[in-house]
Amino acid sequence: MSGPRFFDPDGHRHGGTPTYPYKLAPDGLLTYRQLRAIGLRPGGQPVAAQILWRSRLCKTGPRAAYLYRRELALPVRPMTPARWVAVHAANRARRTCPACRRDAGYVLPRHLGTCLPCSELPERDADMSDHTVNGGYGHEPRPTPPPQPAEPSPGKGV
Ligand SMILES: [Zn+2]
Repeated sequence: MSGPRFFDPDGHRHGGTPTYPYKLAPDGLLTYRQLRAIGLRPGGQPVAAQILWRSRLCKTGPRAAYLYRRELALPVRPMTPARWVAVHAANRARRTCPACRRDAGYVLPRHLGTCLPCSELPERDADMSDHTVNGGYGHEPRPTPPPQPAEPSPGKGV
C-alpha cells in the first residue's frame, strides 16, 4: 500500500516536495550517493524531490532520501595541490597547542584543548607560552620525544 500513499509528484501532500515511492522516481533525479557514484555532486541546487519508503528498522515513520537533478549537478572537484595545502594547514591547526604553540604531532584532545604535557601542568601555567619546567629545561615537559614529522604524508611507507 505504500505505492499510492507515497506517489505524489506535485508534492501536494508533502509540503510541496515532489514525492515518489522507492524505485519509482523519474529519470534524471538522483540521490547524493548516486550522484557521487558517477562523479557528480549536487552543487548547491535545492532538493528537487524525495523518495519515501517504509522501513521496518525505522519505527517513527517512513524513511526519506532526497533527490537532485542530474542536469544541475556539477563534477566533484578533484583535490588540487592548493586544496591539499589547505587541508594540511587545517590539520596542522588542529594539532597545534595554543598553550605552548607547538605542533603536538597529534590532533589535540577536544576536552583538553592543549597538548597532553600542557594539560598536565597546573592551571595557572597552562596559558603561559614560555613556562619552564624541570628547572629551566624550557619546552621539554614530555618524557619522550614527539614522534612527529612536521608534514606527515598519508601515502608514506612505514
Ligand atoms: Zn602544549
